[in-house]
Amino acid sequence: MLRIGLTGGIGSGKTTISNHFRDTYNIPVIDADEISRQLLSPTGKAYIETVRLFGAECILDSKNIDRQFLRKKIFANDDLRISLEKIIHPKVQAEITSQVDMFDTKYCLIVIPLLIESNMQALVDRILVIDTSRQNQLDRVSARDQCSKDHVEDIVNAQMDSKERLKYADDIITNNGKREDLIQQIEQLHQKYLDLTI
Ligand code: ADP
Repeated sequence: MLRIGLTGGIGSGKTTISNHFRDTYNIPVIDADEISRQLLSPTGKAYIETVRLFGAECILDSKNIDRQFLRKKIFANDDLRISLEKIIHPKVQAEITSQVDMFDTKYCLIVIPLLIESNMQALVDRILVIDTSRQNQLDRVSARDQCSKDHVEDIVNAQMDSKERLKYADDIITNNGKREDLIQQIEQLHQKYLDLTI
């Protein structure tokens, strides 16, 4: 099974593109963000350790961990961020590996927004970077999340520079045009990944 790590900045089109691979070609998609959310849920494997790290004030009335609170704390404190990553990352990696083992398709997509930043390259065989212009990121995310472009800009600025990310790419999808422009790029890559597994 060929493991394709799909990454890109906020609003680059990771969800749009991975959905297309799944819906058109039946390619399994593993979502690292979804796994993190499950790990942090009250029944998740990272819940107790995370509450111990951040204290009871990170728990909402619903018993869920307040992810917004965590984000703010780790944004302001690198040591906390590293400690949280030490809890979460090994568990995310273990879960990804166990999900990969369950599929019997020729390849799968593993969507990891911070694939390069969190040094998870060893989990994948190839890296597919989704690239879009900064302006598209601001326009599309502010429309998607109903937030200001300034807010999106802060997030984009905190992420890895897109030129830097592209240096790690084995494959690239450029998402600067219409959605329809993605279809051909995805089809070509699908064929390439099948050919690589022959
Ligand atoms: P990511 O998962 O990388 O954050 P999304 O796939 O959610 O990005 O895309 C961000 C937003 O932009 C979504 O609302 C999506 O529907 C929209 N979008 C993605 N690609 C295009 C495109 N080529 N043209 C217009 N809107 C797009």
